[in-house]
Amino acid sequence: MSRLSHGTFLVFAVCLLQTSGALGVDDGFAAARQEMIEEIQATVTETRRETDRAQLAPKVMAAMATVPRHEFVPAKLRDVAYANRPLPVGHGQTISQPYIVALMTDLLEVDSDAVVFEIGTGSGYQAAVLAELARQVYTMEIVEPLALSAKERLARLGYGNVEARFADGYYGWPEKGPFDAIIVTAAVNHIPPPLVEQLAPGGRLVLPVGEHFAVQHLLLVHKLDEERITIRQILPVRFVPLTGGHN
Ligand code: SAH
Repeated sequence: MSRLSHGTFLVFAVCLLQTSGALGVDDGFAAARQEMIEEIQATVTETRRETDRAQLAPKVMAAMATVPRHEFVPAKLRDVAYANRPLPVGHGQTISQPYIVALMTDLLEVDSDAVVFEIGTGSGYQAAVLAELARQVYTMEIVEPLALSAKERLARLGYGNVEARFADGYYGWPEKGPFDAIIVTAAVNHIPPPLVEQLAPGGRLVLPVGEHFAVQHLLLVHKLDEERITIRQILPVRFVPLTGGHN
């Protein structure tokens, strides 16, 4: 009898651990993540006239509160991983500011059935945020070591619905399209026609357009049907340039 109750206690203890795991055990960064969420909200409020959004979708904020951003930055920058600013990730590239990641994700209006394509995997952070919301995420990166490390990182963190590839994303990924949403996380001086083509009717494309070192604008392209698109300018931004063969 005493053996039995001992066993029962053990099972109970294991259940407790699992329950707290599902709710998100503090990985040492929970407070920093919460602070980041508050800063994102503050910036959303400051920019509400430009973006026409006083708030982002709660599910987008929930995704931002879930993804462990500290896993996507170099080890020596972990302490500042959740600061509301971009950080270097090596090879002259950066992981975008949390507010920008959240805003771009919100503009894409991704639902749980969506297939999304990202150009510019970088650390894989934006892909992970999208993977929290979409059915499937495809992401492409032109710098091979970044593509490889992001692929390994996303797999290790359990993002089984992300497929990452080393290639020039300007031309899209036609075999995997059409896409419900496409996001470009590097600045380009025009809207790439292959990406508009690979967008499903009703789909959305969000990208920074402008020259390197000049003002770039975040654009939201909405493909109404095969013939018509609308383009909305959202706000000035600063991104690293899209490189590759199209230049
Ligand atoms: N989304 C990333 C940050 C992107 S930084 C994150 O969440 O961390 C922009 C990335 O775009 C860089 O890694 C850069 O190498 C990549 N890039 C630039 N031109 C590209 C191209 N033509 N195709 C694919 N990736 C490209």
